[in-house]
Amino acid sequence: MPAVGELTFAAPRRAKPPRHLADLTPEERRDAILELGEKPFRANQLSTHYFTHLVDDPAEMTDVPAASRAELAASMLPPLLTPVRHLDCDDGMTRKTVWRLFDNATVESVLMRYPGRVTMCVSSQAGCGMNCPFCATGQAGLTRNMSTAEIVDQVVAGARWLRRGELAGGPEDPRYGSRVSNVVFMGMGEPLANYRAVLGAVRRLTDPTPDGLGLSQRSITVSTVGLVPAMDKLTAEGLSVTLALSLHAPDDELRDTLVPVNTRWQVADVLDAARRYFEATGRRVSIEYALIRDINDQAWRADLLGTELNRRGRGWVHVNPIPLNPTPGSKWTASDPRVERTFVERLRAHGIPTTVRDTRGREIDGACGQLAAVTG
Ligand code: SAH
Repeated sequence: MPAVGELTFAAPRRAKPPRHLADLTPEERRDAILELGEKPFRANQLSTHYFTHLVDDPAEMTDVPAASRAELAASMLPPLLTPVRHLDCDDGMTRKTVWRLFDNATVESVLMRYPGRVTMCVSSQAGCGMNCPFCATGQAGLTRNMSTAEIVDQVVAGARWLRRGELAGGPEDPRYGSRVSNVVFMGMGEPLANYRAVLGAVRRLTDPTPDGLGLSQRSITVSTVGLVPAMDKLTAEGLSVTLALSLHAPDDELRDTLVPVNTRWQVADVLDAARRYFEATGRRVSIEYALIRDINDQAWRADLLGTELNRRGRGWVHVNPIPLNPTPGSKWTASDPRVERTFVERLRAHGIPTTVRDTRGREIDGACGQLAAVTG
């Protein structure tokens, strides 16, 4: 367990997960197939099986000669994620999955089915090095970075369950989204501390089928504790993904303790970087703010937050207060509902669009900050 405030940026060196076609660009896939002594068009066939048909069983790849199927599948589509268990709640509309990776590291993802959309919350690291004291993932420290394909495969798995009708409502229930439409990098890990793999995953998720899953960039949200250099790098990519910033306090004194990385990049720095993201992309930034009783929920902090946001312009940001979810060993609880209401009203009075996040999965430890992948 990391010491209070201790930060881990560099992931421990570990054996790499097996290479998978989702790690590779379409060109790299063709090169890899050539190296196996196969015809380059097989790369497109395998991509179609994986991204378009969501197939995971080589036996179904009947357009690939049986003689090469096993070898092609083994070297291009190795299994990466083994489900350890599923926990469903919200009448089966929310499913948390604990996955075992090739090296026995465990991670979690959460699929949430809503009217008209389905959101997959994915992990980008096994554990997390950012050590935020109110987050269960942060308490266990960082095990390792996930590969691009390990990240993408969580989404492909969710898409497959929906297509096969494994979630409540069946595949065709018109009241609920029937395909994964949104992906949020809000599971375990700090996505911007695993920048290359996460960017690769964004590309695979948004490249048109069969090169990728064909989601829209706007439906992808990357959430960060505020690693300013990586935020600027993301700004320079020219993508239109949504950026979410886990702020949790508008003043450095408190944020230093709630989000320890604040000792490196302070409130003013991260808000400036968020504003630069908006200016370059036109995408409204989300500010995440877990409301913790008597810690960060005072009306004056709402006012200070409103002032700091408006100081940088209007219409560029919205705030998502999240009632704190309980985590093991933490003495903190969610704010009193009246205090929460006042906090929201104060922000709105500053003209800041503010919506309290609907938290799904609390009773299965699948809500924000509760993912710890304890498999025992
Ligand atoms: N490391 C990234 C991605 C994780 S997103 C980040 O921090 O942004 C998970 C979101 O849930 C973050 O906004 C995080 O601060 C918030 N969170 C963590 N613990 C929480 C808890 N106990 N209750 C509510 N939200 C929490």
